Amino acid sequence: MTEDTIAAIATPLGEGGIAVIRISGPRAVDIAESVFRSKVKLTKAESHTVHYGHVVSPATGERIEEALATVMRAPRSYTAEDVVEVSCHGGIVSVKKVLDAILDRGARLAEPGEFTKRAFLNGRIDLAQAEAVIDLIRSKSDRAFTIALKQAEGVLSRRVKALRHVLIETMAHIEVNIDYPEHDVEELTNAFIREKCEAALEEIETMLRTAEEGKLLREGIETAIVGKPNVGKSSLLNALAQDNRAIVTDIPGTTRDVIEEYVTVGGIPLKLLDTAGIRETSDVVERIGVERSRSAIASADLILFVVNGHEELSEEENALMDELAGRQTIVIVNKMDLEPKIDWNALYERVPEERVVRLSAREGEGLDRLGKAIGALFFSGSIESSDITYVSNVRHIHLLKQAKGALLEALDGVAAQMPIDMVQIDVRRAWEQLGEMIGDAVSDSLIDQIFSQFCLGK
Ligand code: GDP
Repeated sequence: MTEDTIAAIATPLGEGGIAVIRISGPRAVDIAESVFRSKVKLTKAESHTVHYGHVVSPATGERIEEALATVMRAPRSYTAEDVVEVSCHGGIVSVKKVLDAILDRGARLAEPGEFTKRAFLNGRIDLAQAEAVIDLIRSKSDRAFTIALKQAEGVLSRRVKALRHVLIETMAHIEVNIDYPEHDVEELTNAFIREKCEAALEEIETMLRTAEEGKLLREGIETAIVGKPNVGKSSLLNALAQDNRAIVTDIPGTTRDVIEEYVTVGGIPLKLLDTAGIRETSDVVERIGVERSRSAIASADLILFVVNGHEELSEEENALMDELAGRQTIVIVNKMDLEPKIDWNALYERVPEERVVRLSAREGEGLDRLGKAIGALFFSGSIESSDITYVSNVRHIHLLKQAKGALLEALDGVAAQMPIDMVQIDVRRAWEQLGEMIGDAVSDSLIDQIFSQFCLGK
């Protein structure tokens, strides 16, 4: 695999300040040296140094580009091989010329993802880390980027490895018992297996839960803002959209609605449903009441039920509150800048206190409390906490679910006093599935499929 030396353009094609051509493999420095003239010969250059010079045509020796060459020697490089990165002017013609010169000297054009694949095959990163590199490149939000970065650094891999360690211990224990099957040992072994499998199961379940939470953080919680006319729904919408407002110009039409569909509260993204409906209802007060919100309510993950704290709750509002009892609902008591007239006792009889948030949409006061209340409803830990690993990759989620299934079977087996070597098979299966997450014993075709999702030059 690492016998040949590969090269590719690592930056997007097009006009730009600079473009980078990356070369990796045993002959990377030799090949770069043969097309590059600089004060210090690249073959003599120390690792991690940058050299100014000119790229020359292999055929005629004439200068074709002015460039900087960075030398990074194995194993301290992205691929863990010798790497040279040539930075030249960012034009389509210039990069093409430099790349051609390098290919002329015997480098092979890299396939998409081949640099990262080499990092994996050379053992510098595992599969979960390599996959995180794709997520890093593709991430569209700060939060998604942070999750991917942690995974690329190996946070997820370490957790999976710790889990596998528990399972391998269990398997070793079972092995001993299979070899020396004495009755009293068997009892002890069963207790041991049960304890270990339960611990592993709990850890997997935690990881799967964060997967759900990770999805909410990436895609936003689908949220309906409901309430009767004039309670302050549009005002709340405006207050929530304040941050986004900065980038919204006065373009007429729908632009504003589209942008205001997403807001974040205390770092939690909300995807607001039927924002147009909310704006309409405030214009046509009489026409539409709570009914308007029915369809939004039906599909929402979170319902923000706005009431006016400056007046008594109506029959209609009380009825809707009862109806929403089983749903993820937060009652927002708005207009708290005015004198409260709401009957708090009656409210708290219907809704638990932690689901009631007092705020003033007009003053923009109390939004932080709203963020906290939503966080408590949807997230097990603090979402700012840095040691949460969010499993976000579909392949990983699938493997975790399979490992969970295998462990449940192992536990069933123990409970039913199945022969211990049968239980062993289930534990091994869980161990193998977790191994696939980090690329232990995965097939070549899976590896190819994963790396083909990369862009050229990565
Ligand atoms: P909607 O019909 O539920 O969308 O309600 P609006 O957001 O249009 O607000 C109705 C009226 O209540 C407007 O006159 C707002 O200025 C006022 N309002 C909204 N929120 C507050 C608040 O927090 N305090 C006070 N004092 N007035 C508010």
